Amino acid sequence: MPIPASYLHLETKGQVIAYLYARQSRDPLGRSRSTEDQVSDGRDTCAKLCWTVDRVFKDAGASATRFRRKERDDFEALLEALPTAQATVLVAPDASRMYRDLAEYVRLRDALEASGVLLCYGGMVFDMANKDDRRITAQDAVAAEDEGESIRARNLRTARRSLEQGAPRGAVPFGHRRRYDPDTGELIGQEPDPTQGPLLIRMFEMVDSGVSLYRVAIWLEDQGESARHRSGIAWDASRVRVVMINPSHIGIRHSKGQLIGKAAWEAVVPEELYHRVVAKLRDPSRRMQRDSRVKHLLSRIGRCGECGALLKAKKAPQRDRSVPYYECAGLRDTALPEAWLDAYVEEALFSWLRKPAAAKALTPDRTAVAEGCAAAQKRLAAYELQLTQARELSQQFTKEGEPLLSAVSLSGVEQTLLPLIAAERDVIAGSQEEAPTAIKELLEAPDPETVWEWLKLDQKREVIRTVVNVHLHKASRRGVRGIEPGRIRLTFIGEPGFTPRPSTRRDPGRRGVDGPSRVRRSAPSLHPVPKR
Ligand SMILES: [Zn+2]
Repeated sequence: MPIPASYLHLETKGQVIAYLYARQSRDPLGRSRSTEDQVSDGRDTCAKLCWTVDRVFKDAGASATRFRRKERDDFEALLEALPTAQATVLVAPDASRMYRDLAEYVRLRDALEASGVLLCYGGMVFDMANKDDRRITAQDAVAAEDEGESIRARNLRTARRSLEQGAPRGAVPFGHRRRYDPDTGELIGQEPDPTQGPLLIRMFEMVDSGVSLYRVAIWLEDQGESARHRSGIAWDASRVRVVMINPSHIGIRHSKGQLIGKAAWEAVVPEELYHRVVAKLRDPSRRMQRDSRVKHLLSRIGRCGECGALLKAKKAPQRDRSVPYYECAGLRDTALPEAWLDAYVEEALFSWLRKPAAAKALTPDRTAVAEGCAAAQKRLAAYELQLTQARELSQQFTKEGEPLLSAVSLSGVEQTLLPLIAAERDVIAGSQEEAPTAIKELLEAPDPETVWEWLKLDQKREVIRTVVNVHLHKASRRGVRGIEPGRIRLTFIGEPGFTPRPSTRRDPGRRGVDGPSRVRRSAPSLHPVPKR
């Protein structure tokens, strides 16, 4: 039969050497105590009984139900130490902390019996070689396991409830960190990480102001360890994109691509900034990262005023042209030294930015925008319906086996409708966009030149793309030096004839917008080119 701890010295007739075991766990009745407290209680008990504490084993922070056994390292260390132990008795706070699993109980019981070490908990000392002691400790172990099971059931309930309440789960998103209760290890919440949070916001600001994902990745690599992704893999454009579009940044829960709802943690990135940048990142025409390595301010932004094709920067010097120049990428009917066109456009941009018209054009009337967007959505729905009906008709046949709409007719309908649909989608997408941060800074600065100098090339290009259409026309005759009036035509946003965002996209419905780029000619045109 078990004996009271205070009688042990009578049994052993000598010095009692004790091992202490303590374990941190979530306690269903809120009796959770730190391992430090448990050890200090154990030492007090041993001191009162004149037992010598030889070794201390503690498993901190781990729940010890049978589903999480791996984490209990010290329990395993204890089992290993017992066969050669000099100890008389193993002291544990109570049965439920010693083992919450019958298998563990059996392993400990066997180890104790083999080594002749006694077990003490609840003020009683048990000898595992004794039949009655084995029965009582086994009953305690069964009760403890039962308690463990109920903890697990409760944890599952908590997990489900916290999912409903919006508590964080899964991998910690970049820029965030989790807060845990230091004693219980319980998750308290998620908050902006003091180091990565500001980096994350900076990433959004950079992309917002036109910096390419490629450059953001380079910048992140430059930040060193503090910006290391948890995978440890180097940053590249696609990883930057994946990290950024995570809705966790604005406190939205998501699971397997589905938005679940408002989360219980605070947003790291301002919502407006997040939506603006993510809309940009989700735009399929930007996936290609065409601008990743551009070195020229106006290449693929400026257009030929004659044939409408994009301008491309040329590096190869030709006889009298030893400087880089822009050339029409279509009929190659216009060309101008790069420095001339850049300087002209920049000067015009600065003087435009100082005009009240600039601020007015860049801060759109929200009601008008919303109305325009609604109208575009209506038209889009009508076009799409028409297209669906036409496609359905082409799949239906008369008794004679003739389609109700011939393939030729369908193709005609598609050729008409697809560009219209693309255009309406652009209107809708455009109405969601706000001016990039770099433009706001240029507008607010007393001298835009200073801000401009400080901007990176990606940002400058984004500004130009947003605020001005650049068209290069032919000189009146060959050999004209300098820039003749009317040679460069600039149309700023808000002015009649301005086309929003003459982007480099080329989706199927809009082929041809860039002009006849397939036309190849051997040399810059010396002949008059027919107007389109
Ligand atoms: Zn041209």
